[in-house]
Order: sequence, then C-alpha cells, then structure tokens
Amino acid sequence: MPRDPRYDVLFEPVRIGPVTAKNRFFQVPHCNGLGFRDPTAMTAMREMKAEGGWGVVCTEQADIHHTSEITPFIELRLWDDRDMPMLARVAERVHAHGALAGIELAYAGMNGSNLYTREIPLAPSHTPIITYYADPVQARAMDLDDIRNLRRWYVNAAMRARRMDYDIVCLYAAHGFGTPQHFLSRRYNRRTDAYGGPLANRARLLREITEDVKSAIGDRCGVSVRVSIDELLGPAGLHREEMHEVIALMAELPDLWDVTLSDWANDSGTSRFTPEGFQEPYIAGIKKLTTKPVVGVGRFTSPDTMVSQVRRGILDLIGAARPSIADPFLPRKIDEGRLEDIRECIGCNICITGDMTMSPSRCTQNPTMGEEWRKGWHPERIRPKESDANVLIVGGGPAGLECARALGRRGYTVALAEAGRELGGRVTRESRLPGLAAWARVRDYRLQQLKQMPTVETFLDSRLGADDLLEYGFRHVVIATGAQWRRDGTARFHHTPIPIADDAELLTPDDLMAGKRPSGGHVVLYDDDHYYMGSVLAELLVAEGRRVTFVTPSGEVANWARNTLEQEKIQTRLLQLGVDIRAHHALTRVNRGGVEIACVFTGKPSSIAGDSVLLVTARDPRDALYLDLQARRSDWVAAGIASVKLIGDANAPGLIAAAVYAGHRYAQELDAPDIGDALPFKRDIAELSPLQDVDS
Ligand code: ADP
Ligand code: SF4
Repeated sequence: MPRDPRYDVLFEPVRIGPVTAKNRFFQVPHCNGLGFRDPTAMTAMREMKAEGGWGVVCTEQADIHHTSEITPFIELRLWDDRDMPMLARVAERVHAHGALAGIELAYAGMNGSNLYTREIPLAPSHTPIITYYADPVQARAMDLDDIRNLRRWYVNAAMRARRMDYDIVCLYAAHGFGTPQHFLSRRYNRRTDAYGGPLANRARLLREITEDVKSAIGDRCGVSVRVSIDELLGPAGLHREEMHEVIALMAELPDLWDVTLSDWANDSGTSRFTPEGFQEPYIAGIKKLTTKPVVGVGRFTSPDTMVSQVRRGILDLIGAARPSIADPFLPRKIDEGRLEDIRECIGCNICITGDMTMSPSRCTQNPTMGEEWRKGWHPERIRPKESDANVLIVGGGPAGLECARALGRRGYTVALAEAGRELGGRVTRESRLPGLAAWARVRDYRLQQLKQMPTVETFLDSRLGADDLLEYGFRHVVIATGAQWRRDGTARFHHTPIPIADDAELLTPDDLMAGKRPSGGHVVLYDDDHYYMGSVLAELLVAEGRRVTFVTPSGEVANWARNTLEQEKIQTRLLQLGVDIRAHHALTRVNRGGVEIACVFTGKPSSIAGDSVLLVTARDPRDALYLDLQARRSDWVAAGIASVKLIGDANAPGLIAAAVYAGHRYAQELDAPDIGDALPFKRDIAELSPLQDVDS
C-alpha cells in the first residue's frame, strides 16, 4: 500500500546542523541493559531500528570520563580509544541503512557513585550522591580546575565521536543524570562564583560545553543539547519558565534541542499514569524560542498524533524510545501504509526494568527486543516452516496468541482453542482494571495479525481436555492455559498455607476480575506479590466506594514497581485515595470479620477488623491438562502427537512479557535442529589481558 499523503510531513528531511535526517523519526537515546557488557547484541538492536526506518538512531549514554560512572548500571563508556571500536561499529551499522547515528555523551557527576573506578564524584556543590541506591558516598564541589578539566573531557569525547563517524553528538543534561543539569539546578548548585546564583551563571557550564563541542566538531557533526523542561517539583525544582529561559539564553547555539521531563520516572511515564503526548504542555512554545529543530517524546505510536505535533509547531522531530523498542519498524509501516501492523507500545516500562536490574531489556510487545543477535530473531521476519506439521494451541492468552501469530507467519497450520468467549486471557481481564486499558494492545496487535493469516483458525468456547487432544490428532500440542491466583496466603513471606477460617470471606484477583465483589465495605488487601496487581485492585475497590487496608511484608507498596519507575506514583496515589497502608506486616490468620497480622521484624501480633480479605499472593500454573496428557504418553503415537509443550503462565506464572516471549520462542524453535546442551543464545566474552605479576 502506498503511504497515506496525510503522513508525508513525517517523511520530510530535517537539517541538524551540518547533517540531515532523512525523516522526522528520531530514536532518542535509551538504555537497554546490554551496553558495554553485551556490545554486539546492543549493536544489532540499534541496527534493527535503522533498518526499520528511523531517520536518527542514538546510543544510550556513553560516560565520557572514568571519573564519572554509574556502576552497577550497564550503559556505555567512552573513557579512552579502546572503547572506540565497539562504538564505531554501532555508527557503521546504523549508517548501513541510511540513518544518522547519534551518541549521547554523559558525565553523571553526583549521579554516580563511581563504585568501579573509586574516584571521588564531582558536583556543583558538596552533596551526597543522588542515585537509586543511597550509597554512602559524597560528591565533592568542583573547583575551577575541575570545570576546565570537565570541558576538556567533553571535547575529547566529542572528537572521538567524530572519529567514530557519528553524525550527532548529544550533550546530556536531562533526567537528573548529567552534571550540566546539576549546575542548572538551584537545589544542587549552591555556588557563589560565576557558575552559581543567577540562572545565566547556572547555565554557564552547559553553554560553555556546548560552545566547546560545537567549535571542536561542529563542522561535521550536529550538536544536540538534551535538557529537561520540568522536574515537576514546583518552584523547588527546574520548571518550565526557568528552562524556557535557559533555552532562550542559548537559543541558536545547539543544532538541535532535545527536550524531556525530569526525573526519568516523569519522562518515561507509564500508560497507567500518563497518556500519549503527555509532555505537550511543557514542550509547547519552545519552537518560538529558537529556529533550531526540536525533538521531544511522549510515547508516540499514532501517526496522527505525530503529524499533529509537527503541524501545530510543537515538535520538528518525533522522538521515541519505547515506541521504537516495541516496534523498530514503526516508520517503515507508516511509510508503507501498513498502520494495522504497528505493534504499539503499551507503556508498561518492562523494558526499563532491564536497565534497572542490569539485565538485557525485554519488551512486552516485542519478544525479539535484545534477541536480534543473541538469538537471531528479527522483529518482522521469521524463517518459513520446515515441515507440514500442524499445531494445536490450547489457551488464547498472550502466550497462545503470540505462538499462533509467529507460527502463522512461518506458514504452519494452527488451531487455537480458547475455553472462554473472548481471546487475550489475562491481558483482556487485566486491561479492564484501573489504568491498564492500553495493555489490551498486546491482544489487539496479535488478533489483527491473525486475521490476515490463512493458516490459523481460532475457536472460542472450546475448553479442551486430554481426550479432545488425543482425538484431534495434531502433530504438535502447545498448552498455554495460564495460571490462577492462590487462595491460601502462600507467596514470598509464607511458603506454607496460613490458617483461614472456613466462614471467612476470601477473594483473589481472579474473583475480582471475574466480576465478584466483597459483600462489605472494608477490605483487607494482603499483597505479597509486590508488583502492580495489589495497588490496581486497591484503586478499583476504592473507586467502588470501599475502604481498603493494604497489608504488605514489604517496606512499601508495589516495591518491584521501582523497576518500572512507578513505585512512588503508586504509593502516592493510594495514600491520596485514603488507603491505609500497613507496611512490614505479614498476614498470619484470616478470621471471619478480620485478620491477624505480625510485624515482619519482631513478630509482634496485631489484628485488623475487616469484612473481606483479598489475597494478592502467588499464582499456580494451570497445568492439569498438560499433566493429564503426560500421564497418557503411551497414547500419543496412535493419536499422531509428536510433542506436547507447556508454555507461558501455565509453565511458570510471570510477566506478560515472559508469556509473549515463551509463545514466540516456541514458534521460533519448532522444527529447529536439536542443540542438545549447547547455549541457546550468543554472547560476547571479554578478551583476556595478559596477567602480570602483581607484586614484582
Ligand atoms: P498466558 O499468560 O500464559 O498466555 P493466560 O492466563 O493469559 O495465560 O491465558 C490462558 C488462557 O487459556 C485463558 O484465556 C483460559 O481461558 C484458557 N484456557 C485454560 N484452560 C483451557 C482449556 N483446557 N482449553 C482451552 N482454553 C483454556
Ligand atoms: Fe512499551 Fe512495555 Fe515494550 Fe517498554 S516493554 S517498549 S513500555 S510495550
């Protein structure tokens, strides 16, 4: 299909100083948990986006000097020439597809503890370092020599970037993550010299670095300045008026303004808390301050929203991190008039949990993220079928749907049987909970794809048992029957069931999602799951007029949501809704009309009166069908069954991302050669250096 002319504007070239982006699609720098530890996987991931049509593809932050690093987080390093081959290869692979390559130069300063290099971190003023961990480290106030050094280090890094053939050098002063931003901040900068006090002084370092870098490499590279327009802290933090003033001060100096919110949690807002395009109120008006192009983000997945941002003069370049992870081919799909094929980001931030846990980023929507080289998985192409075997998939949740989609793409004949009246499994159910509507995109993308596949048939209202499977005679059977929440209190704190009175009113998330409601007005919610479900159900119950007491053995609500950058937002919301939070307490007994709890440190008991108890604990795999079939293994040959595989939550309950991945992996591996005990992925191994005598 040809491109819809309405979207032509998105494919106009944009000049960024001495270089020109072929279109307005700009993959802004984003972490990925691969970085310097997995440089080949990282390179292939970036290359995929260039292949998918992004006009500019940037690296994540590259720390420019060893005196500032953010161990244990895995980003990039540009400390000396030895780091160059790895980074030069990224630019080369991005160029191979006609995209511009950008590199983000970072000096974290007071935002890194330097646990690896043991150098003293530098900051505008003496301060404890501000990181995700309260490491007992203080940063030292920079003197004028330090400032001179820092300016030189930026120039050195920029010159290396030019030698590596990067087209755009991005100076990172955003998200609370870079020294130039720390200087801008009244909170962090208490200096009384020419670099402190009035805004023009606080902006001096950013201006000088930009000037230095421009004059060093500006002939060949575009220089982009990445700032945060608002920290959303009111007058205490950097805010819109102040940052618009900074931009006005330096208006024409950079070749590109890259604008964000701060901190990272505000910038990478999840769909639970922020809609697409949510940054517009902060970004609007910046184009009036400068003639230079402006790039910004806002989880853009709709081409109409993108066009509107350009037409209304909000942005020149459509910045995207997460939408480019969920669909590296987003620009190509718009260009080719294939909007229905776009795999829209659901705004869950599972990708970010990779960075936060120092592991390769995963994506709920795109199971090939990070696996492009490790496993040879392409987000759009998959090798054709290697046999005429047919496959029966039992269960239409995210695992079953992705399995059917990917097998269908390979050309296999697939039947997908779902017990219920609708497809999507847990995704459909959970997307009806407060704030999670966008999660339905996991289902919708796959249903849209399945519609186009002649070899895949879906059957609703089809609860299958072992007899059915043996009768149907499919060659391969995939069991993706999901999981159910436990009703006995077992999870992380209690590994054995807790006493529960027979006449107590007990509910699980499955009950609530099936429409059942507590009979009384006060619910005690026990959360030993620590991710989103407890807090989402608390919101649901409050919205319906009930009082909620939230008990958790953790020190805070939704502790794991720190990794999705949501924890503080979740706890704030629950407190604002009047939820009574009892942290550091475990449920020890459920009675009719109340519960007993105990302090997790001292064991000191107390009780809470309540009409009903909602247990958000562990889940059990729904694997009965699989076990039935295993018990009848001797019948398989006669039935024509060659293999039976358990996948997704039915195998081990986990993230939706894990279920999608499991479905995809099955489809990738069907009819593949048996690799025995070999590693099922590739990895980089560091080259060993000669070991010298340490004491000679
Ligand atoms: P996953 O996350 O692993 O995909 P879900 O719980 O989302 O798991 O989906 C599992 C789906 O399997 C549910 O929609 C459920 O109705 C369906 N299912 C469970 N048992 C059967 C069965 N015996 N036959 C057909 N469908 C089943
Ligand atoms: Fe979007 Fe979630 Fe994928 Fe991240 S993990 S890109 S937020 S769908």
